[in-house]
Amino acid sequence: MKIANIQSNVYRLPPSVPWEDATNKVDGLEFIIVEITTESGLVGTGLSYTVDIGGTVIRTLIDDYLANLIIGMNALHYEQIWQHLQRQSRRLGLGVNSMAIAAIDIAIWDLMGKHYNQPLYKLLGGARDRIPAYISEIDLRSNGTVEELLDRVDGYISQGYSTVKMKIGKDDFEEDIERITKVQQRLGKGGTLLVDLNQKWSAAEAIQKCARLDELHLGWIEEPLQYQDIQGHRQLKQAIRTPIALGESMYSKQQFLEYLRADAVDVVQADVAFVGGITEWLKIAHLAHAFGKPVAPHFMMELSLHLLCGVQNSYMLENVVGGSLTELGLLEVPIIVQHGVGIPSSIPGHGIVFDRSALAPHLLDASRLRSTFAGGSK
Ligand SMILES: [Mg+2]
Repeated sequence: MKIANIQSNVYRLPPSVPWEDATNKVDGLEFIIVEITTESGLVGTGLSYTVDIGGTVIRTLIDDYLANLIIGMNALHYEQIWQHLQRQSRRLGLGVNSMAIAAIDIAIWDLMGKHYNQPLYKLLGGARDRIPAYISEIDLRSNGTVEELLDRVDGYISQGYSTVKMKIGKDDFEEDIERITKVQQRLGKGGTLLVDLNQKWSAAEAIQKCARLDELHLGWIEEPLQYQDIQGHRQLKQAIRTPIALGESMYSKQQFLEYLRADAVDVVQADVAFVGGITEWLKIAHLAHAFGKPVAPHFMMELSLHLLCGVQNSYMLENVVGGSLTELGLLEVPIIVQHGVGIPSSIPGHGIVFDRSALAPHLLDASRLRSTFAGGSK
């Protein structure tokens, strides 16, 4: 199954609802979409994404450097392809190259699913055919009220969710406590609340504040500290009982190994696009399994669904309000979470079929971006 051709495009569009957390305000999601065609005519679709910045860099890396490297390779030899791309691009460090490799690797796995006539989750191990999902909102606007938050939570409950993730990290910690307490009351006894700091606190601040959060029996505290601070996470983990979730800011299995060895993480949230695709994500999931830790991948709902149904140590699917490909209106075949449960597509491959006419208006215009890009970091 020789690779004959690879095509890529990058699209930029806003989330379908405004996104703002403790450290970022998001203007645009950028999706890098590749199509790999084999000599026999099979087509695999791959994708990667960035939040606000770098989509054109990733596309250029694929088009100008990586694409030619895989022409003529056997699409079934996913390890060989991954290693080849990783070795050739390693001098770029971590991040951009793993995000570019991800788009190619995901297309390769889609091709394998089509070749073997199996949905992706079965190729990955087929550990289950469904997975519980949580709803995840990105709404920490300074003018947002507690009443609006509770209305949204009512909506999530009526959609069938019992686990909700919300952003915290207000300058006034008492506001965080009030919002958490009221949402927990609204969720009731059977509900679980997760909170996400997006790396807002220092280690000392987190140890102090998490002592209060510990009393509230949250499902997890996500990214409390800067992602590089392994020692700080370890100290925090030793000081509290609430699980610590992280991983969306890491790009390789080696980084996860460091956290696992240091006993500085409870829930592993590797993002399939950021770590270099399915091939590397699987290794991270198995590594976490060896350390007795569950995986709850970040974002990429439609793909994460397959990953979670593939491996044994799965925890929960994240469905980010305003951010799934389905909710963005980009798919021909919607992939939805119903009554808080995700069921993967049974189409051979990953089943993500883009609607070309829906994508077309969002084709990234680099010259326009150059004069308007303002960034979203706070
Ligand atoms: Mg997060």
